[in-house]
Amino acid sequence: FLLNLPHIKFGALIPKGRFVTLVLLGSDINKEIAASFVHSDAVRKLFPPEVNLDEITPCKCFPSINVKGAKLAYDDRVVLVGDSASSKLYKNGVGAAYITGKAAANTAVFNGISAAAFKKHYQPVCSNLERDNVLGKFIFSVTGIIQKSHLLKSAMLGLVINEQGKKNQNRRMSSVLWDTFTGSAAYKNIFLRFMNPLLFIPFIWSIIKSMFNIIFKGK
Ligand SMILES: Cc1cc2nc3c(=O)[nH]c(=O)nc-3n(C[C@H](O)[C@H](O)[C@H](O)COP(=O)(O)OP(=O)(O)OC[C@H]3O[C@@H](n4cnc5c(N)ncnc54)[C@H](O)[C@@H]3O)c2cc1C
Repeated sequence: FLLNLPHIKFGALIPKGRFVTLVLLGSDINKEIAASFVHSDAVRKLFPPEVNLDEITPCKCFPSINVKGAKLAYDDRVVLVGDSASSKLYKNGVGAAYITGKAAANTAVFNGISAAAFKKHYQPVCSNLERDNVLGKFIFSVTGIIQKSHLLKSAMLGLVINEQGKKNQNRRMSSVLWDTFTGSAAYKNIFLRFMNPLLFIPFIWSIIKSMFNIIFKGK
Protein backbone atom coordinates (compact mmCIF):
# COMPACT_ATOMS: atom_id res chain seq x y z
CA PHE A 1 0.00 0.00 0.00
CA LEU A 2 1.27 3.48 -0.89
CA LEU A 3 -1.31 5.40 1.11
CA ASN A 4 -0.85 9.10 1.65
CA LEU A 5 -0.67 8.89 5.44
CA PRO A 6 1.83 10.80 7.60
CA HIS A 7 5.05 9.00 8.61
CA ILE A 8 4.29 5.84 6.59
CA LYS A 9 6.62 5.03 3.67
CA PHE A 10 4.69 1.95 2.78
CA GLY A 11 2.54 -0.75 4.31
CA ALA A 12 1.89 -4.39 3.48
CA LEU A 13 -0.58 -7.08 4.50
CA ILE A 14 0.98 -10.54 4.25
CA PRO A 15 -1.49 -13.44 4.51
CA LYS A 16 -0.26 -16.62 6.22
CA GLY A 17 -2.96 -19.29 6.36
CA ARG A 18 -5.63 -18.05 8.80
CA PHE A 19 -3.44 -15.14 9.87
CA VAL A 20 -2.29 -11.89 8.36
CA THR A 21 0.82 -9.87 9.20
CA LEU A 22 0.65 -6.10 8.90
CA VAL A 23 3.98 -4.39 8.21
CA LEU A 24 4.39 -0.61 8.27
CA LEU A 25 7.66 1.10 7.41
CA GLY A 26 8.26 4.69 8.37
CA SER A 27 9.57 7.01 11.04
CA ASP A 28 7.97 7.60 14.45
CA ILE A 29 5.09 5.23 13.78
CA ASN A 30 2.85 5.01 16.84
CA LYS A 31 -0.46 3.27 17.62
CA GLU A 32 -2.54 6.15 16.25
CA ILE A 33 -0.71 6.12 12.90
CA ALA A 34 -1.00 2.31 12.70
CA ALA A 35 -4.75 2.64 13.44
CA SER A 36 -5.20 5.26 10.70
CA PHE A 37 -3.65 2.79 8.23
CA VAL A 38 -5.79 -0.14 9.38
CA HIS A 39 -8.98 1.96 9.19
CA SER A 40 -8.21 3.52 5.80
CA ASP A 41 -10.76 2.59 3.09
CA ALA A 42 -8.19 0.69 1.01
CA VAL A 43 -7.28 -1.63 3.92
CA ARG A 44 -10.69 -1.82 5.60
CA LYS A 45 -12.45 -3.07 2.45
CA LEU A 46 -10.17 -6.13 2.29
CA PHE A 47 -11.63 -7.50 5.56
CA PRO A 48 -15.17 -8.81 6.16
CA PRO A 49 -17.31 -5.92 7.50
CA GLU A 50 -18.19 -7.83 10.71
CA VAL A 51 -14.51 -8.08 11.70
CA ASN A 52 -13.45 -5.54 14.32
CA LEU A 53 -9.88 -4.76 13.31
CA ASP A 54 -9.06 -3.25 16.72
CA GLU A 55 -9.83 -6.56 18.42
CA ILE A 56 -8.01 -9.00 16.13
CA THR A 57 -4.46 -7.78 16.66
CA PRO A 58 -3.13 -9.91 19.53
CA CYS A 59 0.55 -9.36 18.74
CA LYS A 60 2.12 -5.96 18.00
CA CYS A 61 5.63 -4.57 18.11
CA PHE A 62 7.23 -1.28 17.13
CA PRO A 63 10.91 -2.17 16.51
CA SER A 64 13.61 0.05 15.04
CA ILE A 65 15.69 -0.94 12.02
CA ASN A 66 19.21 -0.07 11.03
CA VAL A 67 19.29 2.66 8.35
CA LYS A 68 22.94 3.75 8.39
CA GLY A 69 26.29 2.06 8.02
CA ALA A 70 29.23 2.27 10.42
CA LYS A 71 31.84 4.99 9.83
CA LEU A 72 34.60 2.39 10.16
CA ALA A 73 33.72 -1.30 10.44
CA TYR A 74 37.22 -2.65 11.17
CA ASP A 75 40.53 -2.08 12.90
CA ASP A 76 43.54 -4.23 13.68
CA ARG A 77 42.21 -7.68 14.72
CA VAL A 78 38.62 -6.38 14.85
CA VAL A 79 35.88 -6.48 12.22
CA LEU A 80 32.16 -5.70 12.42
CA VAL A 81 29.67 -7.50 10.17
CA GLY A 82 25.91 -7.32 9.50
CA ASP A 83 23.83 -4.42 10.82
CA SER A 84 26.78 -3.06 12.79
CA ALA A 85 28.79 -2.63 9.55
CA SER A 86 26.61 -2.06 6.46
CA SER A 87 23.14 -3.27 5.62
CA LYS A 88 20.66 -2.90 2.80
CA LEU A 89 18.37 0.08 3.33
CA TYR A 90 14.94 -1.12 4.65
CA LYS A 91 15.30 -4.59 3.06
CA ASN A 92 17.09 -7.94 3.07
CA GLY A 93 19.24 -7.23 6.13
CA VAL A 94 19.83 -10.97 6.53
CA GLY A 95 21.22 -11.14 2.97
CA ALA A 96 23.46 -8.12 3.64
CA ALA A 97 24.66 -9.70 6.92
CA TYR A 98 25.60 -12.81 4.92
CA ILE A 99 27.48 -10.70 2.33
CA THR A 100 29.49 -8.78 4.94
CA GLY A 101 30.06 -11.93 7.06
CA LYS A 102 31.38 -13.83 4.07
CA ALA A 103 33.64 -10.93 3.00
CA ALA A 104 35.04 -10.58 6.54
CA ALA A 105 35.69 -14.33 6.79
CA ASN A 106 37.33 -14.42 3.34
CA THR A 107 39.60 -11.52 4.31
CA ALA A 108 40.57 -13.06 7.64
CA VAL A 109 41.37 -16.46 6.11
CA PHE A 110 43.13 -15.36 2.94
CA ASN A 111 44.58 -11.93 3.76
CA GLY A 112 44.87 -11.72 7.53
CA ILE A 113 43.20 -9.64 10.21
CA SER A 114 45.15 -6.37 10.05
CA ALA A 115 43.38 -3.04 9.49
CA ALA A 116 45.22 -2.79 6.16
CA ALA A 117 43.85 -6.19 5.02
CA PHE A 118 40.27 -5.26 5.98
CA LYS A 119 40.66 -1.85 4.31
CA LYS A 120 41.75 -3.45 1.04
CA HIS A 121 39.51 -6.53 0.91
CA TYR A 122 36.54 -5.88 3.24
CA GLN A 123 35.82 -2.15 3.00
CA PRO A 124 34.93 -2.29 -0.75
CA VAL A 125 32.10 -4.72 0.05
CA CYS A 126 30.67 -2.34 2.68
CA SER A 127 31.16 0.66 0.35
CA ASN A 128 29.30 -1.18 -2.38
CA LEU A 129 26.30 -1.72 -0.06
CA GLU A 130 26.40 1.95 1.01
CA ARG A 131 26.50 3.18 -2.62
CA ASP A 132 23.50 1.00 -3.41
CA ASN A 133 21.69 2.49 -0.41
CA VAL A 134 22.14 6.01 -1.83
CA LEU A 135 20.15 4.85 -4.88
CA GLY A 136 17.72 3.13 -2.48
CA LYS A 137 17.11 6.46 -0.72
CA PHE A 138 16.47 8.10 -4.09
CA ILE A 139 14.03 5.33 -5.13
CA PHE A 140 12.12 5.67 -1.85
CA SER A 141 11.98 9.46 -2.26
CA VAL A 142 10.40 8.88 -5.70
CA THR A 143 7.87 6.41 -4.26
CA GLY A 144 7.19 9.07 -1.58
CA ILE A 145 6.28 11.57 -4.33
CA ILE A 146 4.08 8.98 -6.08
CA GLN A 147 2.42 8.21 -2.74
CA LYS A 148 1.35 11.84 -2.32
CA SER A 149 0.07 12.29 -5.88
CA HIS A 150 -3.31 10.89 -6.91
CA LEU A 151 -2.34 11.30 -10.57
CA LEU A 152 0.97 9.41 -10.34
CA LYS A 153 -0.54 6.71 -8.15
CA SER A 154 -3.42 6.04 -10.54
CA ALA A 155 -0.98 6.08 -13.51
CA MET A 156 1.22 3.50 -11.82
CA LEU A 157 -1.75 1.36 -10.82
CA GLY A 158 -3.17 1.60 -14.36
CA LEU A 159 0.12 0.38 -15.79
CA VAL A 160 0.34 -2.52 -13.34
CA ILE A 161 -3.29 -3.56 -14.02
CA ASN A 162 -2.56 -3.41 -17.75
CA GLU A 163 0.57 -5.57 -17.34
CA GLN A 164 -1.19 -8.11 -15.15
CA GLY A 165 -4.01 -8.46 -17.69
CA LYS A 166 -1.66 -9.45 -20.51
CA LYS A 167 -0.19 -12.93 -20.79
CA ASN A 168 3.41 -13.53 -21.89
CA GLN A 169 4.27 -9.84 -21.45
CA ASN A 170 7.36 -8.53 -19.70
CA ARG A 171 5.81 -7.07 -16.53
CA ARG A 172 8.33 -4.31 -16.06
CA MET A 173 6.53 -1.98 -13.66
CA SER A 174 5.13 -4.88 -11.60
CA SER A 175 8.57 -6.43 -11.17
CA VAL A 176 10.19 -3.08 -10.33
CA LEU A 177 7.57 -2.52 -7.61
CA TRP A 178 7.93 -6.09 -6.34
CA ASP A 179 11.72 -5.79 -6.07
CA THR A 180 11.52 -2.33 -4.46
CA PHE A 181 9.19 -3.46 -1.69
CA THR A 182 10.58 -6.95 -1.11
CA GLY A 183 14.29 -6.20 -1.45
CA SER A 184 14.72 -8.97 -4.02
CA ALA A 185 17.17 -6.97 -6.17
CA ALA A 186 19.92 -4.40 -5.71
CA TYR A 187 18.66 -0.79 -5.82
CA LYS A 188 21.01 -0.08 -8.73
CA ASN A 189 19.38 -2.84 -10.73
CA ILE A 190 15.89 -1.48 -9.89
CA PHE A 191 16.92 2.06 -10.80
CA LEU A 192 18.33 1.02 -14.20
CA ARG A 193 15.18 -1.00 -14.98
CA PHE A 194 12.95 1.96 -14.06
CA MET A 195 14.93 4.27 -16.34
CA ASN A 196 14.61 1.82 -19.24
CA PRO A 197 12.58 3.58 -22.00
CA LEU A 198 10.50 0.40 -22.38
CA LEU A 199 9.14 1.10 -18.90
CA PHE A 200 9.54 4.85 -18.69
CA ILE A 201 7.63 5.68 -21.90
CA PRO A 202 4.58 3.49 -21.03
CA PHE A 203 4.60 5.15 -17.59
CA ILE A 204 4.52 8.65 -19.13
CA TRP A 205 1.72 7.46 -21.43
CA SER A 206 -0.16 6.07 -18.43
CA ILE A 207 0.22 9.46 -16.69
CA ILE A 208 -1.31 11.21 -19.72
CA LYS A 209 -4.23 8.72 -19.77
CA SER A 210 -4.79 9.19 -16.02
CA MET A 211 -4.72 12.96 -16.48
CA PHE A 212 -7.51 12.70 -19.07
CA ASN A 213 -9.48 10.38 -16.79
CA ILE A 214 -9.17 12.79 -13.88
CA ILE A 215 -10.10 15.86 -15.97
CA PHE A 216 -12.92 14.36 -18.06
CA LYS A 217 -14.26 11.48 -15.98
CA GLY A 218 -13.43 12.84 -12.54
CA LYS A 219 -11.60 9.67 -11.36
C1 LIG B 1 11.15 -5.74 12.48
C2 LIG B 1 12.26 -6.15 11.58
C3 LIG B 1 11.95 -6.92 10.47
C4 LIG B 1 12.96 -7.33 9.60
N1 LIG B 1 12.62 -8.09 8.53
C5 LIG B 1 13.59 -8.57 7.74
C6 LIG B 1 13.27 -9.44 6.67
O1 LIG B 1 12.10 -9.77 6.43
N2 LIG B 1 14.28 -9.88 5.90
C7 LIG B 1 15.57 -9.54 6.14
O2 LIG B 1 16.46 -9.99 5.41
N3 LIG B 1 15.91 -8.72 7.15
C8 LIG B 1 14.96 -8.23 7.97
N4 LIG B 1 15.30 -7.40 8.99
C9 LIG B 1 16.70 -7.01 9.19
C10 LIG B 1 17.48 -8.16 9.80
O3 LIG B 1 16.81 -8.65 10.95
C11 LIG B 1 18.87 -7.67 10.20
O4 LIG B 1 19.44 -6.91 9.14
C12 LIG B 1 19.77 -8.85 10.52
O5 LIG B 1 19.20 -9.61 11.56
C13 LIG B 1 21.14 -8.35 10.93
O6 LIG B 1 21.89 -9.44 11.39
P1 LIG B 1 23.07 -9.20 12.44
O7 LIG B 1 23.65 -10.56 12.70
O8 LIG B 1 23.96 -8.13 11.94
O9 LIG B 1 22.40 -8.59 13.74
P2 LIG B 1 21.31 -9.24 14.69
O10 LIG B 1 20.50 -10.27 14.00
O11 LIG B 1 20.60 -8.07 15.32
O12 LIG B 1 22.19 -9.99 15.77
C14 LIG B 1 22.89 -9.30 16.75
C15 LIG B 1 22.85 -10.17 18.01
O13 LIG B 1 23.73 -9.63 18.97
C16 LIG B 1 23.12 -9.71 20.24
N5 LIG B 1 23.74 -8.70 21.10
C17 LIG B 1 23.56 -7.36 21.09
N6 LIG B 1 24.31 -6.77 22.03
C18 LIG B 1 25.00 -7.77 22.65
C19 LIG B 1 25.95 -7.81 23.72
N7 LIG B 1 26.35 -6.69 24.33
N8 LIG B 1 26.42 -9.01 24.10
C20 LIG B 1 26.02 -10.15 23.47
N9 LIG B 1 25.14 -10.17 22.47
C21 LIG B 1 24.63 -9.00 22.06
C22 LIG B 1 21.65 -9.43 19.95
O14 LIG B 1 20.84 -9.93 20.99
C23 LIG B 1 21.47 -10.20 18.64
O15 LIG B 1 21.09 -11.54 18.85
C24 LIG B 1 14.31 -6.96 9.87
C25 LIG B 1 14.62 -6.19 10.99
C26 LIG B 1 13.60 -5.79 11.84
C27 LIG B 1 13.93 -4.98 13.07
